[in-house]
This record gives sequence, structure tokens and C-alpha cells, in this order.
Amino acid sequence: MSKTEMTNFLQTSGAGFRDPEVSPDGPKTTQPLDPEVAARNAELVEQYAGALYNATAEEILAWAHEHAPGPLVVTLSMENTVLAELAERHLPDADFLFLDTEYHFPETLEVADEVEARYPAHRLVRAKAQLSRPEQDKTYGPNLYLRAPSACCRMRKVEPLAVHMSPYAGWITGLRRADGPTRAEAPALSLDATGRLKISPLVTWSLEDTETFERDNNLIIHPLTRQGYPSIGCATCTMPVAEGEDPRAGRWAFAAKTECGLHE
Ligand code: SF4
Repeated sequence: MSKTEMTNFLQTSGAGFRDPEVSPDGPKTTQPLDPEVAARNAELVEQYAGALYNATAEEILAWAHEHAPGPLVVTLSMENTVLAELAERHLPDADFLFLDTEYHFPETLEVADEVEARYPAHRLVRAKAQLSRPEQDKTYGPNLYLRAPSACCRMRKVEPLAVHMSPYAGWITGLRRADGPTRAEAPALSLDATGRLKISPLVTWSLEDTETFERDNNLIIHPLTRQGYPSIGCATCTMPVAEGEDPRAGRWAFAAKTECGLHE
């Protein structure tokens, strides 16, 4: 076997590297919620999930501001900045959280910087994986996203989100039912696995609704959303999609994977 063939073999098989199913040592989960807050969250979902299922974004956020029994965090992928703008209006105390996987498009990082400058009242938390990208390559082998994308997402998205969720009673997500069949019946209000409120004010929005809101409010626009990328994740795992195609068809187009695990 030539040196190049050996390199390719090591890169594709992961031989000699750590099992990607085993994450690095260190925190990986969210701390348990205060039992009183957990009980209150469960009551709120029981009482209001049905009424909020088709509510407007403004109604859902006003409800969250009034009822959440503790601090909230708004998760931002930076694909669009609608949630940041709505939080500015309805959730003045909420933090913003961005998962910096170190695999983002440069344009995504520029949008994150612009959001931080435009909404200074909100602290922007940049959640990173325990291992930097070079450290991950060294430990698990190069191009883990190609060989084991679920493990890569677990270590760079799911676990960092879990760790950074500890201070909060709930989180605001940008889930839209229109984003594809896997999200077609997403609730506006539910409990996540830790008992925190999971609040999705944009569930009823279409892509067109999002674009209209962006235009009408002169929001920060991710330039790639105008260049064939209606759904934007890591640069390594996002391809442009054709007009009329499922917006998420360009995510992990090389693998039988459609979700990063954040919404399971
Ligand atoms: S989207 Fe790709 S590069 Fe990003 S964390 Fe998931 S597998 Fe890794």
C-alpha cells in the first residue's frame, strides 16, 4: 500500500483513532433543573401547549415573557436573525446562544458578529465543543463529519448545547414546520428531555414569511440564503438546493442524516 493509500485508509476507516462513539472526558449534559421550576414547566406545557400550537410568534413570545419561571435563552443558528429581532422586542432579558462548531461558513461568523453589535442588550454566548477542530482531527481522525456525522454533531452541537443550557428554565428555537417532513408537526411549546421549556415561536412560518419579515424590518441577512442555501449548517455538511426542493435537502447530502440531534 502506498503512503497516499495508507493515508486515505486511515482517514476513511478511523483506524488508530479514538472510537467516535466515546466523547472526550468532561461535561456533556445539562445540570438538573430545580424541582420547583421543573414542576412549573410541566404544568405550563400541560395547560398551554394546545392553545399555543398555532399561535403567532408575538403571542408565543409574550406568553413566554409572562410565564417562564426562570431565565430563557434564544438559540440562533445565524441562518436568519428573525428570532434575535423578536427577542429584542418581547424578551428583553433573554441571552442569545450560538453553537460555534468551528466548521461554519465565514459568512455565518460574520452574521454572528453583526448580531452581537446590533443587539447589545442581549449577551451572545458562543458555545464550543470541548475539542477544537484540530484537536478533534488528532483524536478521532480527520474528516469525522464524513465518516461519522452523527458523532461529530453530538460532540460539536448536541453536547455543547446541553452543557450551556444549564442556567436556563427554557429555550427559544427557530423550528418551522415548513422546514421539512421531520418537523411537520413540531409543537410551539413542549418540554425537552431535561424538563426545560422548548418554545418555537416560528413554527407556523413559511420561508416566505421569514423573508417578508426580514425585508420589512431591514434585518441582517445571511448572504448564502440568497444563493441557494435555504437551510444553513456547517460549511462541510451544507449544499445548495434547487428551487422548490425540500429546504433541508442540502444538509448532510452525503449521508442518510437529516437532523443534527438538537431537536430529538
Ligand atoms: S454539521 Fe457536519 S461538521 Fe457540523 S457538527 Fe455536524 S457533522 Fe460536524
